[in-house]
Amino acid sequence: MNLDTSIEFLKGIGTERAKLIANVLDVRTVEDFLHFFPLRYLDKSKVYKVADIKEDNIEIQLKGRITELQEVTYAKGKKRLSGKFTDGSGTLDLVWFQYTKWMLEQMPINREVFIFGRVQEFNHSFSMAHPEIELEDKKSVDERLRPIYPSSEKLTKRGLNQKFFQNTLANVVSQIPNLIQENLPFSLMKSLKLMSRQEAYLNIHFPLNLDYAKHADRRLKFEEAFFFQLGYALKKNYNKSFAIGNPFPKVGDNFNDFYENFLPFELTDAQKRVLKEIRNDLKKPIQMNRLLQGDVGSGKTMVALLAMLLAMDNGFQSCMMAPTEILATQHFNSISDLLKETNVKVKLLTGSTKTSERKMIHEELLSGELSILVGTHAVLEDIVQFKNLGLAIIDEQHRFGVAQRAKLWAKNKIPPHILVMTATPIPRTLAMSYYSDLDVSVIDEMPVGRKPIITAHRREKDRLTVYNFAKEEIAKGRQVYFVYPLIEESETLDYKNLMEGFEHISEIFPVPDYQISMLHGKMKPDDKDAAMQYFASGKADIMVATTVIEVGVNVPNASVMIIESAERFGLSQLHQLRGRVGRGAEQSYCILMTSDKLSAESRKRIKTMVETNDGFKISEVDMQLRGPGDILGTQQSGMIDFKRLDMINDGNIIKAAKSTVEHLIKVDSALQNPEHLNLKNYYIKQYKGKNKWGKIS
Ligand code: ADP
Ligand code: MG
Repeated sequence: MNLDTSIEFLKGIGTERAKLIANVLDVRTVEDFLHFFPLRYLDKSKVYKVADIKEDNIEIQLKGRITELQEVTYAKGKKRLSGKFTDGSGTLDLVWFQYTKWMLEQMPINREVFIFGRVQEFNHSFSMAHPEIELEDKKSVDERLRPIYPSSEKLTKRGLNQKFFQNTLANVVSQIPNLIQENLPFSLMKSLKLMSRQEAYLNIHFPLNLDYAKHADRRLKFEEAFFFQLGYALKKNYNKSFAIGNPFPKVGDNFNDFYENFLPFELTDAQKRVLKEIRNDLKKPIQMNRLLQGDVGSGKTMVALLAMLLAMDNGFQSCMMAPTEILATQHFNSISDLLKETNVKVKLLTGSTKTSERKMIHEELLSGELSILVGTHAVLEDIVQFKNLGLAIIDEQHRFGVAQRAKLWAKNKIPPHILVMTATPIPRTLAMSYYSDLDVSVIDEMPVGRKPIITAHRREKDRLTVYNFAKEEIAKGRQVYFVYPLIEESETLDYKNLMEGFEHISEIFPVPDYQISMLHGKMKPDDKDAAMQYFASGKADIMVATTVIEVGVNVPNASVMIIESAERFGLSQLHQLRGRVGRGAEQSYCILMTSDKLSAESRKRIKTMVETNDGFKISEVDMQLRGPGDILGTQQSGMIDFKRLDMINDGNIIKAAKSTVEHLIKVDSALQNPEHLNLKNYYIKQYKGKNKWGKIS
């Protein structure tokens, strides 16, 4: 038997059962079986008394006699087997819905037995269905706890019950000395108090006691976190040894002049800190690959601008890319506004930039006259060439793929430094792992004076009140968003939804008292611009829109966000949408309109939104609801397909693994120390082909 042995060759399985198990449980090899972990354990060292049963739905062991047994017809053509069990302290009903004649005949009536199973309460009395029965004199002494494996009715019906799994796993586990090799250095296990790998696999299936099970769990989780981190650390190390970058040693006039004279506000401590982190990277002759995480409104744009000025001070150009035209335009507007008193030249390049303007931009980029280019994907086109691109900033990274990042690299002989900005906070533990190939900076503090947005959940019956509230706010001079969900399956439906909404809103908020602007994805860029402008300038009181306004739109006077059919939005989307308000000095509100019937998951999403403004908390709930794979996109989910490690609850283990790996890489980055041999071999075997860093082999 080795790890790759097909389970059909295991005792008691065979071709048919192997197929069934593979289909239902996705277990195909001995290794899969080792990773087929118990849901929980039964402690058979305890014996309960019938009189002590107070709680429903627990699994227990009792010792006594089965005193009665009979077949009962309980529906047309349906029979069950019904019995009574007593241990002197009381009587418990036993029931079998499936049974054979043989069972009926063999039942050890009136003999001392142990019975074992789950008690259930029906009509104020307890019963146990399908108990396991063992004669007292035959009972094996159980040293270890018994594992209970995930199973299904389909399997149980075919005889693949807990006993089957327990026996099969006992068989596999007995081979552990031949199957499992240690993959961590002894000194490490000692210092971190980790169980050996063999012990861990034994105790995760058949623990000596619950404490052993816990230790086994910790060891297996640590191992997963460790090798995952190691993969990234080696890759990062490998990249760094190649990724030369242009050092920016100077802080010069452009930066200083702006910082001293034109900074419109004091930077928050968090902004200062991340700026320092960026600056430290830029000083080195190594390409920066940094992720800047910060909740909506935390002030990432200013950090980006200051970094671009640093590039300029060192003789380099910068570009900043955003995923949509609206967003790029907005970045351009706010950056050129901030720089209007300086000599720094900034231009905007998008899909709808006119040919003549485009030509001019191309020329000025080549001559070096243009220092900062803001744009959309248009910036990536091959025809866009720089004289000396030193820094590329990508806003909202989730929408740009790795391939596109790579295109940016090629824009200069020595690749530009890369700063990726994201407002979609992902849980810290996930970031630590997933972004291990990027260095991470976090802005975890909002500019002072921001009032937390008040969020409320409202239903159809409250609609009039909601409209009246919007009217009151408009009367105070504020502006209001109405957002309608995108209907992914049907763009037509989507449009209809929005148009109906628009008409409805137009009736409730009629001209000339109210001006309404509308924005959706199907509009021409010029029309979008005009609609946006109409609202941003304050001419329109209301903006009716689809989620195109989700990212980055900045209208500080807008203080009410009303989201229609909010149950149809994902959590991070709701959070992004809410981030469109609360950008000014006024108290802002977000109103989540839903239908009356909500699924449990929708209710959880809405409740979370109402309870917190903290993007990190929201992303944690999001991850619990959807799983990390969905958050990062299916492409990446395979990489974080952990067997035991839980990204949310195992933060401490992930942290420990990360610092262990960092230390390891520092002292032996090529894993040449003989003590690291098993670790290196395991890594190579495990990650062959998955990680193209290829340095050690
Ligand atoms: P985001 O991180 O979502 O991109 P922005 O960069 O758009 O946030 O900043 C949001 C708003 O906060 C902008 O209006 C910006 O001018 C303002 N802002 C940024 N930093 C500060 C600060 N330190 N103090 C006050 N306002 C700030
Ligand atoms: Mg932004």
